[in-house]
Amino acid sequence: MARSYNMRKRVMVTGGAGFLGSHLCDRLLDAGHDVLCVDNLFTGTKDNIGHLHSNPSFEFMRHDVTFPLFVEVDEIYNLACPASPIHYQHDPVQTTKTSVHGAINMLGLAKRLGCKILQASTSEVYGDPSVHPQSEEYWGHVNPIGIRSCYDEGKRCAETLFFDYHRQNGVPIKVARIFNTYGPRMHPADGRVVSNFIMQALKGEPITIYGDGSQTRSFCYVDDLIRGLMALMETGPETTGPINIGNPNEFTVRELAEKVIALIGSSSQIVQEPLPQDDPKQRQPDITKAKEVLDWQPSIELEQGLVKTIDYFRRFL
Ligand code: NAD
Ligand code: UDP
Ligand code: UDP
Repeated sequence: MARSYNMRKRVMVTGGAGFLGSHLCDRLLDAGHDVLCVDNLFTGTKDNIGHLHSNPSFEFMRHDVTFPLFVEVDEIYNLACPASPIHYQHDPVQTTKTSVHGAINMLGLAKRLGCKILQASTSEVYGDPSVHPQSEEYWGHVNPIGIRSCYDEGKRCAETLFFDYHRQNGVPIKVARIFNTYGPRMHPADGRVVSNFIMQALKGEPITIYGDGSQTRSFCYVDDLIRGLMALMETGPETTGPINIGNPNEFTVRELAEKVIALIGSSSQIVQEPLPQDDPKQRQPDITKAKEVLDWQPSIELEQGLVKTIDYFRRFL
């Protein structure tokens, strides 16, 4: 629904050429805003935003957020950071730099402009959780020196920076803790479980379950997630978060494999591969706060979302 002209904002999305960022750009343009997409194209692609190039309200800037950026905008969504384990572990030092130096630069920008800034944090701040489901009060159980730490600790430090810029400089912050999200425009080779299983099932290749498949995740469809992020950005200055945004319906990885095989009617067999180090055993968001503060909850069931995602992935065959 288009907004009136005086509600129109210049909104910056870092990581805007990625999976979540490109959907966010779409929804912000639908809402009548001008969008500046800032991305270094490490894991994002021009294909994800190709349909927006003829839109006069959309602008793309190739830039790495670990370097300072001087632009004039009204709101910032900070999504820049590789999210898939194989990508964030490819250059772990750069991953931490992106989270930490990126946060410092984007917070410095928000401080100068006095504008709202939303951080795409993650359920990974809870690590391999000893509390289930995870509520925002839980401080987490994270290995500081393991192979996932560049991402987990980078995101934890970014949260620290957000709250210190808020307390010290009055920056209006919004911290969203995003749980596993899937949907069209996930990179088919990014190694995450939903994209792996769908591509394997479509090709009739073995479905690779890591470990015995009893570990759980709670999968949120991208449209629900973006609606949650935008609702958080709309809140007044008293709402800083952190707020969990995710779908509380929890599935084992084996159940996910079976669903994907059934929906595709695939002949693929399930095979087991070693469980990666520090792989969280269970994960489910407590979304009480999102329901109360944002009046938000997911509406798309896993099977419904998987059907849309499978349709998208067929193009890569
Ligand atoms: P993605 O890899 O598709 O997108 C990340 C984008 O950031 C890419 O376009 C990439 O090129 C860009 N980027 C990376 N480093 C950059 C840098 N230094 N400077 C500028 N751009 C850079 O991943 P995604 O799934 O869309 O995730 C987006 C954000 O949401 C990330 O911050 C991620 O940590 C967070 N998140 C995602 C999930 C999920 O399940 N998808 C869950 C929790 C948190
Ligand atoms: N920064 C930026 N864009 C701006 C303002 C600041 O990229 O519009 C960067 C700046 O280069 C600095 C960081 O943000 O490295 C933090 O800024 P802050 O003002 O907090 O710190 P200081 O400049 O005092 O070190
Ligand atoms: N996983 C799996 N097979 C794959 C890819 C992932 O069994 O081909 C498992 C992985 O070990 C983890 C879960 O699926 O337990 C989710 O993995 P993903 O990389 O998607 O996200 P994250 O671990 O960051 O939640």
